[in-house]
Amino acid sequence: MTGKLIALEGIDGSGKSTQAKLLAQSIDADTTFEPGATELGTIIRKSLLHSSSKDLSISVEAEALLMIADRAQDIAENITPALSLGRNVVVDRFSGSTIAYQGYGRGINTEKLQDAIRLATDGLEPTLNILLDIPADLAMERVAATGKQIDRMEKLGIDFLNRVRQGYLSMASANPDNWYILDSDRPIDDIAELILSRVKDLL
Ligand code: ADP
Repeated sequence: MTGKLIALEGIDGSGKSTQAKLLAQSIDADTTFEPGATELGTIIRKSLLHSSSKDLSISVEAEALLMIADRAQDIAENITPALSLGRNVVVDRFSGSTIAYQGYGRGINTEKLQDAIRLATDGLEPTLNILLDIPADLAMERVAATGKQIDRMEKLGIDFLNRVRQGYLSMASANPDNWYILDSDRPIDDIAELILSRVKDLL
């Protein structure tokens, strides 16, 4: 018996890591995140996101391929071994992030991205993607309130984040069977309850 993969998606500040943790506790699932959950992934994450890498030149295609390489390694080291033991896995970002950020945000052709994603995932898709939808300005306020250093993607600004948000919404509304859209501008516990009740239907 293989476990199920559930992905939390949305822009930074939408509450993905908060909800991933709560969901994993509620259903006793394993958790992972992208980018950066493997040794290779930490190197990729540092190159892509850290402000200390701001002078590093990375083309949009290279950025997409690095994100996808991070996913290939996360699948090989964390996701597949857990699923094959029958464990459910909650992942904070998966292929939806690549389509939203590098496709809708950066403007790379989404079919080409899908081909590259398939190389990394061998067709593995989440049973359910949960989209925490939130206006970009509110998400930016939440991130700013954490006091964390703003990363390279977050520096792209509100127009970029709006394109990413709209990309997520288009993708999710076109695939209602494996996307669940939630308004994330509500209390953490309310969101957790809605997610849990949707996920319980799957398990
Ligand atoms: P993400 O992983 O999507 O970047 P986080 O879960 O790290 O988002 O949340 C970003 C910040 O917003 C954190 O300080 C978190 O406590 C806060 N936060 C998360 N969900 C909510 C919510 N529903 N309402 C208010 N603040 C929230």
